Amino acid sequence: MIAQDAQSPQWAKKKFLHDAKVHVQDTGHRTFVQKALGGYFLSRDAQKARYRDWEQARDAASLAKWSAVNRLDELLPLFVANFEANGGQVHWARDAEEARRIILDLVREAKAKAIIKSKCMTSEEIHLNAALEKDGYGVIESDLGEFIQQLRGEPPYHFVFPCMHVRREEISELFGKFLGTPPTNSPEELTMIARRHMRQLYVDADVGITGANFLVAETGQISITENEGNARLTAALPRVHISLSGIEKVVEHLDDLAVLLPMLATAGAGQQMTCYNTLYSGPRRDGECDGPDEMHLVLLDNSRTAILADPEQRDSLHCIRCGACLNVCPIFKNVGGFTYGTTYQGPIGSVITPHLRGLSDWNHLSAASSLCGACSDVCPVRIDIHHHLLHNRRNAARTVPNRWEKFGHQIFVIVASRPWLFAAGGAIFRHTLGMLKRLPVPLLRDWLATRALPAAPRKSFRQQWRQAGKDSL
Ligand code: SF4
Repeated sequence: MIAQDAQSPQWAKKKFLHDAKVHVQDTGHRTFVQKALGGYFLSRDAQKARYRDWEQARDAASLAKWSAVNRLDELLPLFVANFEANGGQVHWARDAEEARRIILDLVREAKAKAIIKSKCMTSEEIHLNAALEKDGYGVIESDLGEFIQQLRGEPPYHFVFPCMHVRREEISELFGKFLGTPPTNSPEELTMIARRHMRQLYVDADVGITGANFLVAETGQISITENEGNARLTAALPRVHISLSGIEKVVEHLDDLAVLLPMLATAGAGQQMTCYNTLYSGPRRDGECDGPDEMHLVLLDNSRTAILADPEQRDSLHCIRCGACLNVCPIFKNVGGFTYGTTYQGPIGSVITPHLRGLSDWNHLSAASSLCGACSDVCPVRIDIHHHLLHNRRNAARTVPNRWEKFGHQIFVIVASRPWLFAAGGAIFRHTLGMLKRLPVPLLRDWLATRALPAAPRKSFRQQWRQAGKDSL
């Protein structure tokens, strides 16, 4: 795998093409990932069947997010006022750098010796662990999948299932190497190893860092949904709790969660509900026996207001990060999660990454789609994902200069606007199609190596049309 964050022009595209080629040819990896997703599809469909009307539930979830995102200017201040009234402190971060600086300052003020963190994709987005480690702070990931990825020195493979590409035997070997445990093939025992290792770390940590799934404006509460209970311990045991969230996570009403939490569980993990759904309402109050002394929330923009200002793509902010669009995407299933080189992989990652990190370096992701629409069909909040990819393609064609593509379009205009030239070009193409495979053009040769080239028809469409006209006389 090429390093994730080398920032040279065209680096991201070259990396994508290189890694995609490697992974597409790795049939073992592809089969393993498809098998891992097989179980997800079975349980997701079983849970969907429990809804009286899944499509109506999608409408309700979509409406809740639509109404919140379109009234962010009103709901964010309402959330902040209620969160502060509950005793929490809010910090606004324009971009990743500012968010890192705020969190580092909070960690320094807390005189932290140990930090524990639960799953938070926004922290991956701002490369928080690297910044904390650079400043001399060790951070332990408490989510099992993230912990495994941390030991492997890899970013998450999938933003819901971070280590879905890792085999049990590999995890056992990894734990043996880092934690000194004997080999085991039992998932339960592997989980218990991580649990035993983690318990004391929660107690030792001075600062706990979490993400947020939803921010409830009317109550000022942070909603976090998880399966392991690790986020609860991360938020409750250390002296200081820092939550990091994108500004788009706001919903207006507490009862919006009545539809959003089950939809997130079903679409994301094929569950009726995730095991732990917790609302955090500020630091510990007098008389309470647990909870942090301080609770901070860092609200991150990082180009989200630019997406908000674009009416065409605003609904990409509705995303509840369930990961369902990745699971059905033929591109994701073939090229794998690392190939994207982004925090958010798959279709929704391909939509938002060009906004978060620049269209000129990341517009190739818009082409990483067959436009089959499977992503839009499964999205629980009805984001029109594949059309957004088309919009990105159009925007890139307008703003990112590509001399060869432009040249190709100009040639096409010349040929297509002259019928005699179009007919001559067609005839040449039909007669030379078979030779294409033998042409010494590497890109063409690679492309055709995995595709069957159809035989060219003997007659052009026009010839056939004329012939049909004569025959019908
Ligand atoms: S775009 Fe939709 S399907 Fe994809 S992660 Fe977001 S909410 Fe889930």
